[in-house]
Formats: sequence, structure tokens, C-alpha cells
Amino acid sequence: FNAIAVLTSGGDSPGMNPAVRGVVRAALNSGIEVYGIQKGYSGLLAGDLRVMTSASVRNIVQRGGTILKSDRCDAFRDAEVRQQAIKVLVQNGIDALVVIGGDGSLTGAHCLAEESDIAVIGLPGTIDNDIFGTEDTIGFDTAVNTALDAIDKIRDTASSHERHFLVEVMGRNSGFLATHVGIAAGAEMVIVPEYEVHIEQLGQQLSDSRRAGKGSSGIIVVAEGREPGLTYRLAQQLKQQGEEPRVCILGHIQRGGQPSGHDRVLASGLGAMAVSYLLAGYSDIMVGVAEGAIVDIPLDSVIRYRKGLDPNLFELALLLHR
Ligand code: ATP
Repeated sequence: FNAIAVLTSGGDSPGMNPAVRGVVRAALNSGIEVYGIQKGYSGLLAGDLRVMTSASVRNIVQRGGTILKSDRCDAFRDAEVRQQAIKVLVQNGIDALVVIGGDGSLTGAHCLAEESDIAVIGLPGTIDNDIFGTEDTIGFDTAVNTALDAIDKIRDTASSHERHFLVEVMGRNSGFLATHVGIAAGAEMVIVPEYEVHIEQLGQQLSDSRRAGKGSSGIIVVAEGREPGLTYRLAQQLKQQGEEPRVCILGHIQRGGQPSGHDRVLASGLGAMAVSYLLAGYSDIMVGVAEGAIVDIPLDSVIRYRKGLDPNLFELALLLHR
């Protein structure tokens, strides 16, 4: 290759920095020039790119966010606009691109691979873990731990005041984050987009556990994607049933913070492997994880299918509080 470019796109996630570092250092070690594109596809269209050296990625392995910045760029859905992006890459002598982002970003990456001679590799970078074809995504582990840290604190005050807390976590349309957080936090209930929730059942369950002497404070984890405003509606409903619940929306703190050790190792490995796959002649693939090993999956299938929530995992979340 003449030069590889790397960009981060969509919602940022902790671990994007070690992934960028992995790409940059692996490429330089193979004697290939690397460009960092600022602000995702917007920066690519604007030609906002700079040469990366080993020093450009020094001291970032532990930093949250992304030094390359990220953006959403609606115009990129337009094939003519993407031709402009391809022109920018070609004019700068770039013949390979690594895109780090969620499924929207990977859709854009697939389009670029199909519409040009540029070799394109995607890496799953999202706290939601909602990408088909990979069991893990860069940032998921950190986001689970950030949510747990907050919930452990909320539990202290919930128990002091003998109150239930409805804690809303991110995850877009997926219940992965909520289910993992729910299991690890010992939540009384987990509400996710993939499975029906019966509000009456929730009220009943809380009063049953009160009667069973299990205490009168508990955590109910609600995935943001179930339906807009559901967390507050549930709180209202519980109030009508005589409870005094409180609502806590964790929000963007879940996207920030230092990447966990797990995410740093995952991101570093995926970043370096993206370069190995490019050198081996691959394009139009995502590099992800299956059964604990790094694997390649065609971007076409990554974006075509929806990742399902493991029913056993969800069952576990509901089972263990009983
Ligand atoms: P996350 O879900 O973690 O926030 P994401 O990558 O899915 O990450 P999106 O906002 O869906 O976030 O997409 C990011 C960018 O990817 C969009 O702003 C757009 O530039 C590009 N993109 C999304 N969908 C498409 C598409 N269908 N075709 C081409 N480009 C797309």
C-alpha cells in the first residue's frame, strides 16, 4: 500500500484511541504511511487529514473519546457525495481506509469499498455491542463498568431511603448493555427492547419482594431503546401502586472515561489486525471477535443482519434476583 487512512465515526466509545494507535503503529511498523482523518466522514469530505507519526499516538492508549474526533454526516448516505470522498482519498495517494464506528459507520465503509478501488476495513466501535458478526465491540466493557460504578452508588442511597430506582442505560435499539449491567448489578428487573414488559408484573414483583422481606429498595435497569419516555412512565405507574421510585438517566457518562483494560487490549488487537488483513489483501470486511478469537466478517453481512440478544443471558438477568 501507498498509504492507509484511519477515521472514527458515529457515537464515540472508550477504546477508539487504542484502536487508532493500533492501526497507526502496525502500519508504520510495516513501512506504510498513515493518515488520520478528523471528524469521521465529514472530515474526509472536507479533506481534513494529517500524516500520523508514532508520536501522534503517544500517550493515548488510556484516554477516552477519540483524538481524531467523531461526527455524524448525513450527506454521506448520498452516493454522489461519497464519490467526492473517494476523490479526496485518491488525490492524497491513499489506497486503504480503516473505519472505526457503529453499524451506520460500517454501512458507509461498505459503500466506499463497493464504489471504489480503495481497500476498506471496518472495526466495531460502539458501547452498544449491537453489531452483527462480533460478540464484542470496542467500548462495551468500559460502558458496562461505568454504569455499574454509578449503580453501585445509587444502591447505597436507594437502600438508605428504602426506595426503588429506575436506572436508564444506553444501548440504542439493543438490550445488550442493559442485560449485562442488570446481571452484574444484581438488578430486580431488566427492561429491554427485545422482550415484552408487563408493567403490572413489575409492580407485583416489587411488592412480593417487599413482603418476602427482601427489602424495599431495588434497581430496575431500563434500556433507552425500549420506547421513548418509558422510564418516567414506569415511575408514574409504580407511584400509583404505592411505591416512591426515583429515576436516574445515566446518559452520556456511559460514553466517556478511560477505556478498561479489556477494551484497551481488544482495541489494540483489532487495530493491528486491521492492518494485517489489509496486507493480506482483504477488503470490505469487518474485523471482529467470535468465540474469543479475532475473525473477519464481510461488511455486507454485518450491516444486513440484526444481532439478537441471547435469550439465556436475558433469562439469567431475570432469574437471579428471585
Ligand atoms: P453508534 O450507533 O455507536 O452511534 P453509528 O456508526 O451506528 O454509531 P450512525 O449515526 O448511525 O452511528 O452513523 C454514523 C455515520 O455513518 C453517519 O453520520 C453517516 O455519515 C454514516 N452512515 C450511516 N448510515 C449510512 C448509510 N446507510 N450509508 C452511508 N453512510 C451511512
